[in-house]
Amino acid sequence: MKKIRRKGRLRIDRIGYALGIIIFVILIINIINYIQYNNKVYDSVINSGAKNALIEKKYKKLKIYDKTIKLIKSDDVSVVIKDKNSKTYLSSKNVEKNMNINVDIYNKRLKYKNFPWTKSLFIENKGIIRKSNKVEINLPNYLLSNKYIDIYGVTKDDNVVPVSLKEKAKRKIKIKTDKRYVRYFITFIKLDKIEVSDSTVNKDSIVNLNIKYIPQTATIKDYEYTKIGNIFKINSDGKLVAKKTGTGKVTIKHTIQNIQATATIKVKREENKVEIKNGITYVNGILIANKTYALPKTYNPGKLSDEVVEAFNKMKEAASKDNIKLWIQSGYRSYETQEKLYNGYVNKDGISKADTYSARPGHSEHQTGLAMDLNIIDSSFANTKEGKWIAENCYKYGFIIRYPKGKEDITGYMYEPWHVRYVGNDLAGKIYKSGLTLEEYLGISSKYKD
Ligand SMILES: [Zn+2]
Repeated sequence: MKKIRRKGRLRIDRIGYALGIIIFVILIINIINYIQYNNKVYDSVINSGAKNALIEKKYKKLKIYDKTIKLIKSDDVSVVIKDKNSKTYLSSKNVEKNMNINVDIYNKRLKYKNFPWTKSLFIENKGIIRKSNKVEINLPNYLLSNKYIDIYGVTKDDNVVPVSLKEKAKRKIKIKTDKRYVRYFITFIKLDKIEVSDSTVNKDSIVNLNIKYIPQTATIKDYEYTKIGNIFKINSDGKLVAKKTGTGKVTIKHTIQNIQATATIKVKREENKVEIKNGITYVNGILIANKTYALPKTYNPGKLSDEVVEAFNKMKEAASKDNIKLWIQSGYRSYETQEKLYNGYVNKDGISKADTYSARPGHSEHQTGLAMDLNIIDSSFANTKEGKWIAENCYKYGFIIRYPKGKEDITGYMYEPWHVRYVGNDLAGKIYKSGLTLEEYLGISSKYKD
């Protein structure tokens, strides 16, 4: 009994002894690790000048064999780090032009919250390249916490060349190595701030925000709209469009980081540029012939313009596919022809009545060579399938119904469902969608002086 008890005690002693050794070994390994990490220039962190100074003070006990700091601008610090073998890790002057990168160092134990902007990792080529030209790198957690990273190759002459920008951050990153690069530099540069300038834009125009990213080198420079108010709209291409005149606020948010900025944007009506060339009036480049603006007697293109005929033929072809037959009833009319026509109407109906349906010489749109009467010159045309097709589709070919229903006071003419004017696809689409007449769209009048 006693012997057995003693043996049992012995066994417990041995286990305790063995455990003690294991704990001791683990402790030693940890101490070695700790010392190693403390002494190794492990990674790099990029930061602003002010914070750089702080880091330097805080971690000056790190064994850095050579470190030069040079002030470039008031808030830019260039740092060159050398390890004990006098190898230059990276100097900010070698980083891509305008990258504005400042390099600092830290060891593995530092807390990353001290470096809010940039976290990066250097990989020495000799360590990762053996015979294979594809290497796998385990991304450290502080880089993995970002959705994207940038990978740069550093040449022998310390030139930093982008290898893969905005790469998705994964635990294992594969790099196809290249003999040109002696080391790689993997980084994510966090955005600190977005600034959007206030601006003034024209109504119906696409709003291009003037955005400043700080730092400029941020890995991700994408944003989305969070608040656009009621005078702006996002179009089908995802672009911001000014829909109404007035002043509105637009707020954008960085796509990944929760950083926002707001701009005040004033939307004004586009000022019309009225030009008179050889007696012909152009408003924003659009030739105008109405009751306010006359064409000179000498303006005589002789026929419909080639562009208009081509557009009409396209429209005619498209219409025929819908079983609609279109033809030009009346195209170009000279000053003299209009003079005879108008005078005839005046003799028949008197001036005031003739003015509602016929233009005085020089004021007819038919003299421009850009307008035409289609099919049947009668108000009943509006209710025919041809008339309806024209009303709904002519803008697609650059035409507008020039004298719409209910706009007689604005255009100066009664409703003419057959009379179309060519203004080009872009403007025709805008006018059609606005529901305005050409006069309203351009902000001009159509009234005889007398
Ligand atoms: Zn006409």
